[in-house]
Amino acid sequence: MPEDCVFCAIVDGDIPSRTVHETDDVLAFLDANPLAPGHTLVIPKEHHQHVGDLPADLSRAVFDVVSELTPRVQAAVECDAANVGINDGEAAGQEVPHMHAHIIPRSADDGGEPIHAVAGFRPDLTDEELDEIAADVRNA
Ligand code: 5GP
Ligand code: ZN
Repeated sequence: MPEDCVFCAIVDGDIPSRTVHETDDVLAFLDANPLAPGHTLVIPKEHHQHVGDLPADLSRAVFDVVSELTPRVQAAVECDAANVGINDGEAAGQEVPHMHAHIIPRSADDGGEPIHAVAGFRPDLTDEELDEIAADVRNA
């Protein structure tokens, strides 16, 4: 584990957190600077930076908790919507380099935006370019 990882320090109990759910491999706790009441982070206890770095079993364990916890968070803060997302990599806004999924409860009048708002200028792609990109992803 990297010495300076704040989420590893939370897993180790060296930094306090408001735990809302815990399994052998996964921890979920409230975000210290919430974007909404109930803003929750779900992390693997083992240190990995990127979502694609997680071993398959751990990935399943993390996403099982995200799936189970999202409606529970919504029920706790009495709303029926949430954005669930991962900033995967620095250019995508990842500040803590320990993989985490955000569960951000939403309500119609909270002044927020859909997840589409995170990207910059929309590319104007032709059908041929889209076909090429799909092939590149299939073959990557
Ligand atoms: P990122 O930009 O990496 O996706 O988000 C990191 C999140 O971790 C931020 O929303 C930030 O508020 C939260 N965070 C950073 N340090 C701490 C901490 O020490 N405790 C808790 N509970 N959340 C933290
Ligand atoms: Zn870590």
